[in-house]
Amino acid sequence: MKLIMFGVDDKEVPYAKEWAEKTGNEVKIVEDQLSSANVDLVNGYDGISVLQTSKIDDPAIYAKLKQFGIKQLSTRTAGYDMFDLDLAKKNGLKITNVSIYSPRAIAEMGLTHAMYLLRKIGEFKQRMVNDADFRWSKDLVSDEIYNQTVAIVGLGHIGGATAQIYKALGARVIAVTRATSVVYAPYVDEFVDLETALKEADIITLHVPLTSSTENMFAAPQFKKMKNNALLINMARGKVVNTADLIDALKNHEIGGAGLDTLGDETTYFSKKVAPEDVPADFKELVKMPNVVVTPHVAFMTDTAVRNMVQVSLNNIVAIVEGKNVKNEVRF
Ligand code: NAD
Repeated sequence: MKLIMFGVDDKEVPYAKEWAEKTGNEVKIVEDQLSSANVDLVNGYDGISVLQTSKIDDPAIYAKLKQFGIKQLSTRTAGYDMFDLDLAKKNGLKITNVSIYSPRAIAEMGLTHAMYLLRKIGEFKQRMVNDADFRWSKDLVSDEIYNQTVAIVGLGHIGGATAQIYKALGARVIAVTRATSVVYAPYVDEFVDLETALKEADIITLHVPLTSSTENMFAAPQFKKMKNNALLINMARGKVVNTADLIDALKNHEIGGAGLDTLGDETTYFSKKVAPEDVPADFKELVKMPNVVVTPHVAFMTDTAVRNMVQVSLNNIVAIVEGKNVKNEVRF
């Protein structure tokens, strides 16, 4: 079978080649994202894989894919909001995603942020670098992880992996979630409501999807109810947290610190090098704070996750083209 991959990053290439050798299929690599300018490249191929956040909403692209005999669109991500589902349906294209590629990757990045903040590494760094101050200051004494109450908000695949890690470290794990999972329940000491979590947690770690019920879930009223030394970790989506309110809460010492893999307006810099003047103001303000750590939406970025994103996406294509049932087929 001949497959074509768009939007391919350097780090994905070895995994695509490894898969092609193992399965005997041919994979063409295209660095650019799929667009009306390059859709003709698909002619002569059996299946297509993409990875992009920008919308694929030009009807001509879907019509051409149909004309070339393409049966599917496969994204190497969990989210599939880049596709126009109506256009896909109209042109007989099935859609697959990679719904789980490595929950552990994101869980471990969340822990890394939390430990950095708990041990006040940012504060030490700032004092050493800015003031040549190497003193063992009383206000920088830390606590240890097994003395912490950690609230997991959203106990799905990633929240569950996070609960497992904190439980193994001896922390008290509480969870706020919609559906309590029997798989992850053994790692949770107590299921609580959000109000209890805000009051009791030393670390609150967010793993909910962005929906109308979770947008701005953490804003001024929630920060005011949190412990003054509590850490907020957001590995989910930027808009789950109201960033302006978070900045105020940090400035007013209502919470102890924040670890953020994602910010509300990250689309301006998502996986791009941007001009200094295009860096969002809230990002600039947050990274100056020693009790904040920001990473550019890279919690997923481990070898395991990248391999799974590439190879599961390619397996999905083969299965769809061969008319098999695919666990990752998006029903719409
Ligand atoms: P999942 O669907 O397995 O889990 C989500 C959980 O949230 C479910 O248990 C659900 O019951 C719960 N939930 C939903 N709405 C809720 C609410 N209002 N209150 C409490 N709980 C609620 O999803 P997942 O695979 O664990 O991923 C979670 C999120 O992580 C994704 O939606 C995505 O936004 C984010 N994510 C981030 C990265 C990254 O690199 N930073 C990578 C992948 C996913």
